[in-house]
Amino acid sequence: MIERLREQGIRQESVLGALAAIPRHVFVDEALRSRAYEDTALPLGFQQTISQPFVVARMLEVAAKGRALGKTLEVGAGCGYQAAVLSRLASEVYAVERIRKLLDKARANLRQLRLPNVRLKHGDGSLGLPEVAPFDTIVVSAAAAVVPQALRQQLAPGGRLIMPVGMQEQRLMLVERSVAGPFFETWLDAVRFVPLIAGVE
Ligand code: SAH
Repeated sequence: MIERLREQGIRQESVLGALAAIPRHVFVDEALRSRAYEDTALPLGFQQTISQPFVVARMLEVAAKGRALGKTLEVGAGCGYQAAVLSRLASEVYAVERIRKLLDKARANLRQLRLPNVRLKHGDGSLGLPEVAPFDTIVVSAAAAVVPQALRQQLAPGGRLIMPVGMQEQRLMLVERSVAGPFFETWLDAVRFVPLIAGVE
């Protein structure tokens, strides 16, 4: 899987190392285990998917380019895979998931790996986590038409947010908050994510 990511253009060794360190099969249902290292999204149940390794790598590479990830928020923890990869790159990871049963699954998966710096929270991640903000990095794993205002506000000066933006057609968007205050936006790769949904279940 790591060699394939390299061939696809992922260059940052810290990101490749983090993906190599986290066993993806732990996060995939038994029936799909033989496909855990293919470069595809796989179903998680509850109509959600575990993200494709290339897309995880790409998002983290953009987020980490030239700096440490620091205190990081993930919106849309799903089964916890990306949160586990983030734990190798960030000082602290707060991962929010709106579906309680998926969060329970993520908790069970992450327990097996004993990652001391990951905290899972049940909630609507489009509101961020005001009690923990500001974040140096925010990674959103579900797509919306616009970047939620609460997430922009919870970005620390010098921080970066990456998320899929758009409805029918989505692209990754990088939002950087400069130390002086203004936000800069950059459009990146075309992607396909499940939608960001308000409220919890
Ligand atoms: N990060 C996961 C991918 C999960 S798919 C991985 O590593 O594989 C996206 C997840 O976002 C789904 O579990 C979905 O339930 C969740 N989600 C969608 N809208 C959300 C919201 N507003 N707050 C928190 N989670 C949300």
